[in-house]
Formats: sequence, structure tokens, C-alpha cells
Amino acid sequence: MQRYDMFIDGEDRPASGGEWFPTDNPYLGTPWAEIPLGTEADVDDAVRAADRALRGGRWAELTATARGALVRRLGDAITEHARHLAEVEVRDNGKLFSEMYGQVTYVPQWFYYYGGLADKIEGTVLPLDKKGYFAYTKKEPVGVVAVITPWNSPLLLLAWKVAAALAAGCTVVVKPSEYTSASTLELARVLHDAGLPPGVFNVVTGHGQDVGAALVGHPLVRKVSFTGSDATGRHINRAAADDFKHVSLELGGKSPNIVFSDADVESAVNGAVSGIFAATGQTCIAGSRLLVQADVHDEVVARLVELAGTARMGDPMDEGTQVGPITTPAQYAKVLDYIDIARKEGAHLALGGGPAERGGLFVEPTVFTGVRNSMRIAQEEVFGPVLAVIAFEDEDEAVALANDSRYGLGAGVWTRDMGRAFRMADRIRSGTVWINTYRAVSFLAPFGGFKDSGLGRENGIAAINAYLDDKTVWINTGAATGNPFVMR
Ligand code: NAD
Repeated sequence: MQRYDMFIDGEDRPASGGEWFPTDNPYLGTPWAEIPLGTEADVDDAVRAADRALRGGRWAELTATARGALVRRLGDAITEHARHLAEVEVRDNGKLFSEMYGQVTYVPQWFYYYGGLADKIEGTVLPLDKKGYFAYTKKEPVGVVAVITPWNSPLLLLAWKVAAALAAGCTVVVKPSEYTSASTLELARVLHDAGLPPGVFNVVTGHGQDVGAALVGHPLVRKVSFTGSDATGRHINRAAADDFKHVSLELGGKSPNIVFSDADVESAVNGAVSGIFAATGQTCIAGSRLLVQADVHDEVVARLVELAGTARMGDPMDEGTQVGPITTPAQYAKVLDYIDIARKEGAHLALGGGPAERGGLFVEPTVFTGVRNSMRIAQEEVFGPVLAVIAFEDEDEAVALANDSRYGLGAGVWTRDMGRAFRMADRIRSGTVWINTYRAVSFLAPFGGFKDSGLGRENGIAAINAYLDDKTVWINTGAATGNPFVMR
């Protein structure tokens, strides 16, 4: 079994308590590596190292242009190690190699894009309304950033945060999910070897309630960038408010995938399947509610059941596998619980409905029809291969159903009527709307949630501002002193 160290101040280090915990391979159901069980003291060491790197030394002294070039070099280094990093991710979270390799080979683009932005962060000269003064603004890095990530797409979601934070000149301390820490620890070494100075990128591992909470509460951390469940996000938002830290939160969803009767049914069914069964439904943007116009409902459900029913489950490393295991035993139990809840609520089981015959952490792709939007299966995030199908009559009803959710992360609309496509895009309350496609993301397309799906946006040019503070500088070029007791 492989034993990992943490990565603090440019060094591999065991946890200060000298303990490790096992990390499992969800496909085999056996532990494959040991991860250091971090402590509050380790968090403090990592944050202090990040703070020192921010205030002086090689990183702090780089020009923005040199910093940008270094961030872009990190992208090259990740490309060189992509296959290995993706294999480590599959070992830890059981998702398909094809999906994880696709993600890891895409990760460098975040480093190229934000690296390119590093020396385009400009201030302004203000056209003042007062004589005898000159004023300008500049943007400065917010400081030490705590990056907290989930288990479903560890390095992709980390890159969204870290590439922008580093390009802005910040330093980071990452707390990866306790289920998938290995790829982040391996990445730390890759970035270090590519020339990132000590203290700029640190990784502390361990559980959320202790290591994660200590990181969020550390007084030298100035920003928390979090991706995970809304329950944890709520907790982090409250904790960060104590000392007014900046916060970005990418949270859960119950995204509607909406099929109108004028849609290309084959594409819509493909989109519905990829929306909920790709990644075994373990994505924040899973299209977990399928809203189908009544006159094509039966045809769409029949085709969907046929396609999803033939999905090949198996070893996530095999090219032919289409559906992998659930990542953790707790998540597996939760998915089965929701299947039970849906049955008890009176939804009609059209496909699947239980553990897969092959055993392990595999769950059958499951489709419920006859779902009412008020049911728990339509309101709560399952994070597994379970689809709730709801029929609707017209556009107004589709909009009402889509928006009747406390979440607002993604939405899909399938129609050939472009007028309707634009109307739906305007009326749906979610951070992303996909028309005749689903689950597309890019480093240059802002991403984030409305309502309980989160706060702030990642990706795109504006997202770098989440890692910058504005400063205004006033210079007296000859204004009279005036009355000292009155505002100038
Ligand atoms: P989670 O909230 O359980 O854990 C996420 C991270 O937070 C982990 O690293 C965990 O250790 C840490 N954590 C837990 N408690 C903490 C605390 N009190 N203080 C600080 N850190 C703490 O989420 P998960 O189960 O790992 O991931 C699945 C969830 O993530 C789903 O809800 C999914 O929708 C969401 N997600 C959202 C996006 C997005 O971009 N919007 C992307 C992927 C996943």
C-alpha cells in the first residue's frame, strides 16, 4: 500500500500527529493508499507558510508577467503527468478513466487561460470631481486562499480555483476531500518540480469537521473557495463570516432537463442519459429531473429506458465501461435510500431500482416516472444514477416546474424552436442553461449557482476578481488644506 505525505512549505511531511487513514478503491472495495491525518497544527503550519510566501520571497517578487509565465508552465507540467494523475483519480473515486483523463488533460487550459490574464489585471485612473487631487485604483491579491474540494472531480474543480488564485498573486492551502486526496498530493509535487516556490501551494489532508473547519477559521486565511454540498457550504459561509473572509461557494443542484415535443428526440434522449447516468450521476450539474412535454412523454421514456438499460457497468479503467461504481459506501447507502423514498412516495419505477447484480458499490441506472415536483425525489439532491421524470403540458408549466426548486445550478432545454429556446433561457433561474446540449463546461464560460446552488462564479475573465481586492490611492497635487473638521 502506498503511503502519502502532506505537502507544506515545499516539503513532503507526515501529519504532526503521526497518523494516517486509508483511502479506498471503490471498484475493488479495498484500501489502496494511506493519507496523512492532518491536525490543527498542520493547518497552522500550512497557512503560515502560505502567508510568508505572500509577503516576501520569490513568489511575492515576481512581476505579473513572470508570474503568468510560471502559471502557464504549471499547465505544461500537468499535461506531462496527466495519465498518471487520472489513474490516481480513478483509483480513488471509481469514475471512468475516459472521464477523468478527459478532465485532467483539460485542466492545463485553466492554467494557460488565467496565466495569460496575470499581467492584464489593470487599475484605473479616476476622472475625479475634485480639483487638486489625483487618484487611481489598483488590484491586489486577497491573500491566503483556502481551497476546499469534493471527491467527484478533484483536480478539475481544484484547477478552477487554484489557476485563478495563483494568477492573481495569491497563495493557497488546499484541503481535498478525505475520499480523494491522493491526486491533489501528487499534483503538489508536480507543481513544485515545475518551479512553484515553497509555500505557494500547500496541501493539508484529513476530515472536514477538523482540518477543513480549522482552515476556514484560521485568521490568516482571507478567502475560502469551496465546492461541495450545500449543507457544508452553509456551514462554511457562517464560519467565514466571523472575520469577514471572502467566500465563493459552488454547491449542489437538482437541475431540470426539459424536453419539448418539437425536439429532436434522439438527441434529447442522449442528453438525458448523459445528464444523469454519466459519472454515475455524481456530478453537481446532473440533470436529475427530466421534464417531458406530455405528447412525447411515452416515446421519450421508452427510448430512455432502452438506452439506459443497456449501459455497461464494470471496471472504470476499461474503455467499454459506461457506468462505474458509486464512490463511497455512505453515498451508495444514500442513493439506495432515495430509491426507497421515491417508491414510498408513489413514483413509478420504470428502470433499475436497486443494487446491481454484480455487487460492490454498483447501483442500477434507475428511472422513476409519474413523479410530482413536490416529492423528495424531485427536490433533494441524490448524487447518483436516479432520474425523476415529470410530465408537463406547456411552456409556462415547464418554467414553473423548473424554477420550483431551492437549487439553480444548471438546466437543459431541448427544442427546435429558437424563439422558445431564448425565452426559456431568460425565464429559468439557474447559473447555466444549455440549449440542445448538456454538461458542457469551459475555462472561459462563467459557472456557478443561483439560490442554494452557491455564491459567486468561477471561470471566465471576471472570476479572477474573486481573488483580488481593489485599492484606491489619493494624491494631493495642490488642493487647499481647508477646514480640518469638514470632509474633503
Ligand atoms: P461535502 O460538502 O461533504 O465535502 C466537500 C469538502 O468539504 C470535503 O473536502 C470535506 O472534507 C469538506 N468539509 C466537510 N465539512 C467541512 C467543514 N465543516 N468545514 C470545512 N470543510 C468541510 O461534499 P462532497 O460529498 O465531497 O461532494 C458532493 C457535493 O458537492 C454535492 O452536493 C455536489 O453537488 C457538490 N458539487 C458541486 C459542484 C459545483 O461546482 N457546484 C461541483 C461538484 C460537486
